[in-house]
Amino acid sequence: MKRFLDAYGEDLEFGQIQMNYLDWSFQDAKGKADLLKQFDIPIWVMEPLRGGSLSKLASEYEERLTMLRPEEKIPAWGFRFLQSIPEVTVILSGMSTYEQLEENIATFEEERPLTQDERKCLLKIADEMLVKKTVPCTACRYCTSHCPMELDIPRLIGLYNEYTVTGGGFIAPMVVGVLPENKRPSACIGCKSCEQVCPQQIQISVVMKEFSDALK
Ligand code: SF4
Ligand code: SF4
Repeated sequence: MKRFLDAYGEDLEFGQIQMNYLDWSFQDAKGKADLLKQFDIPIWVMEPLRGGSLSKLASEYEERLTMLRPEEKIPAWGFRFLQSIPEVTVILSGMSTYEQLEENIATFEEERPLTQDERKCLLKIADEMLVKKTVPCTACRYCTSHCPMELDIPRLIGLYNEYTVTGGGFIAPMVVGVLPENKRPSACIGCKSCEQVCPQQIQISVVMKEFSDALK
């Protein structure tokens, strides 16, 4: 993205990125927003509720948010988070029912950006959601030179995380689908040689097997 902005940033009227409180760290939306800010490019947001997955949370998370703002509906937290980012000028939200349309209109009738404490709580919840759903690969790449199949392990784990967070989605299956067969998760022979050097002690062979089975 930096190279693209270095080349074309001057000509851009806006930058459209996927941004929501879960992707703030997961897809590094924060880094992308910072870059667009550096280039003075307004942000247009897509997937503010991550395909609707942030419109309903686990009850423990919903309770924590409701304690902070009893009157705020759960989907509105996603929009209030974005209202807290001054560079955001447009939020594109898909709606599938008339009720959702009415709710969103009501939400945007007023700007109620999050306070520091509310934002901290929301991002902490996002971190907790990610810890539960994702494999904590740091992309250090210590493992890759140990793989006899020369798999791009951190990339595959990143796709696995995308797959689990979206409950399948289309991105991970599509990206894996265009890899050569001998570079897909199914090419893992389960030798575990990568696991000997992983500082995060990830059971990589298990992840590859699960991912491969899920994609069948
Ligand atoms: S377990 Fe799989 S990913 Fe790990 S080194 Fe062996 S073939 Fe590569
Ligand atoms: S060694 Fe572990 S943490 Fe590092 S890239 Fe490989 S799987 Fe990820």
